[in-house]
Amino acid sequence: MLLIISGPSGSGKGTVTKKLLPSQGYALSISMTTRQKRPEERNGTDYFFCTPEEFHTVRDADGLLEHATFSGNYYGTPVSYVNQQINEGRTVVLEIDVIGALQVKSKYPEAVLVFLMPPTFRELRHRLECRGTEDEDEIERRFRRAWDEVAMLPKYDYLVINDAIDQAVEDINLIVSAERLKPRRSSGKINHFHDNINGM
Ligand code: 5GP
Repeated sequence: MLLIISGPSGSGKGTVTKKLLPSQGYALSISMTTRQKRPEERNGTDYFFCTPEEFHTVRDADGLLEHATFSGNYYGTPVSYVNQQINEGRTVVLEIDVIGALQVKSKYPEAVLVFLMPPTFRELRHRLECRGTEDEDEIERRFRRAWDEVAMLPKYDYLVINDAIDQAVEDINLIVSAERLKPRRSSGKINHFHDNINGM
């Protein structure tokens, strides 16, 4: 399953997705970006940081599942990791913006789109300011973009309000559990059932 988590910058996507455990079958996709690395970030763990030339080379070789420009930088999802994890039966989590999410949904209509919202815009602004990773101009750009992103909410399958991290994580686990029980995702189990009946 492809699980896409989007939401305004500062809604807590990174924190929430990192709490979705590999032991429960989740694999987190690591994006490529041309954005500057923040001091606390690690190359290959948070992102694959790259130059615009490197990004274009991968994109032009059809190496990206989707890509978008956010606040003047390129971001994209390397397709090879996603395919490998899906083939191994994992739920791949993509933490990407709304433009990328809709690209994936048009290619894979079965992808599950979750929109993560802060409780209020005031709280969003507060979180952006407090995390101290962007300067005032960048905070302003990201805050303004948040309104455009929220406008895309009707295109999403689920809305999760991130008021308390643990509750948001639990909500996402519930969504995934319910999605995994949908008959169309369980054809393997149904074939197994038929085999048993035929063997009676
Ligand atoms: P940040 O610079 O705060 O890490 O990310 C900025 C925005 O880019 C966030 O909304 C984040 O979800 C989004 N983003 C991160 N990786 C990707 C990606 O691979 N593709 C797309 N389309 N957006 C991404």
